[in-house]
Amino acid sequence: MPRPLIDLTGQVFGRWRVINLHKRQGKGRPALWNCECECGNKRIVAGTNLRSGISASCGCLRDEKARTLMLARNGKGARSPHWKGGRILDSRGYARVWNPTHSRADKRGGYVYEHLLVMEEALGRPVNISETVHHVNGHKADNRLENLELWNKSHPPGQRTEDKIAWAKDTLLIYIGVEGVLKWIENYDQDKVGSPPQKSNYISSCS
Ligand SMILES: [Zn+2]
Repeated sequence: MPRPLIDLTGQVFGRWRVINLHKRQGKGRPALWNCECECGNKRIVAGTNLRSGISASCGCLRDEKARTLMLARNGKGARSPHWKGGRILDSRGYARVWNPTHSRADKRGGYVYEHLLVMEEALGRPVNISETVHHVNGHKADNRLENLELWNKSHPPGQRTEDKIAWAKDTLLIYIGVEGVLKWIENYDQDKVGSPPQKSNYISSCS
């Protein structure tokens, strides 16, 4: 009878998180586990290597250690002639930039999505958590500003009129500011607004 298998599902070893069992090999050979690294890379790792700490990441940890060592040695960081720009492509195809002091940097690696940085630079403010940066042409590493759009996922909490008005006010203030609102009112043209919408224009989800 085979030895009972210790289930590692959900456990964390270094940067690895165990997703589930890949294959039980038997006959003294270690079970293989599907794992996901903090950086997003997925690999199959032997349970023995996880538990002993031989494998602590997909390789990104080793890369970072080498980089940190290099930085410590020459003490010049980004100004070093050996600096490779600190830009990586993650397993999902997004470009990330080494920027450990950024509030959205991943905790261990210190990398931030490049599209966030480009958008923040253009906005002159942080991208907030209700916002996403969309890649127009679908290429996740094409972070030219003209390929990026700022989307906002926020919406009123329900259908209550006062909630919608409060949300609309907040949205206006975030995206056009007080000056923009004043300009809008200044240019407001009652004639262009037309007749009030008819009741039949509304689709009601409540019957
Ligand atoms: Zn990794």
